[in-house]
Amino acid sequence: MVNCTGIAARGTLDDLRGVKGEMLVLRCPELTLNRPVRLLHPRFPLYITPRGDGVFMLGATQIESGERRRATVRSVVELLNAAYALHPAFAEAELVEIGADARPAFPDNLPRLRRRDGVIYANGLFRHGFLLAPAMARMLADWLCDGQKPELCDED
Ligand SMILES: Cc1cc2nc3c(=O)[nH]c(=O)nc-3n(C[C@H](O)[C@H](O)[C@H](O)COP(=O)(O)OP(=O)(O)OC[C@H]3O[C@@H](n4cnc5c(N)ncnc54)[C@H](O)[C@@H]3O)c2cc1C
Repeated sequence: MVNCTGIAARGTLDDLRGVKGEMLVLRCPELTLNRPVRLLHPRFPLYITPRGDGVFMLGATQIESGERRRATVRSVVELLNAAYALHPAFAEAELVEIGADARPAFPDNLPRLRRRDGVIYANGLFRHGFLLAPAMARMLADWLCDGQKPELCDED
């Protein structure tokens, strides 16, 4: 069996923790960005990703907390200030969505394939789940089908 339940596996994987992330979706039809833009911020790596039709995703905070809901005023203000610093047109943007969740992460923030009691846990994708999921899935398939022990394997 393969378990890829993210932060819900915290009860079994005792070194798995939640790292809270908050994000915003803004609509700003006056502005065009042709690629994601990274922003320097003293506390967390921020980025603005254009989603087309004047919609932008702005993320994400990085807070040591397993809390999965409740974006705070401080985080929202910091995200909005970052957007406004990038381009003054964001002052007139529509605030479409405020999101919050906890990313599953191990102490070194690196993902793991871990076999425990006959179950393989694929977890710890931290900030990079979308980016790393294909590589994790490939390693998992190679392990299951060809017995090729993955680089990220972590067995008891
Ligand atoms: C604000 C924010 C912005 C982010 N931005 C990015 C980004 O730009 N790029 C990027 O690569 N990553 C990003 N991430 C991180 C990314 O979301 C995570 O790395 C990724 O979701 C982890 O994937 P996962 O499959 O391990 O867990 P999840 O995505 O949480 O998936 C686990 C799934 O298991 C299900 N589940 C739980 N318990 C059970 C059960 N008992 N039975 C059946 N199903 C169950 C859950 O419902 C869920 O669907 C961001 C995270 C946040 C919070």
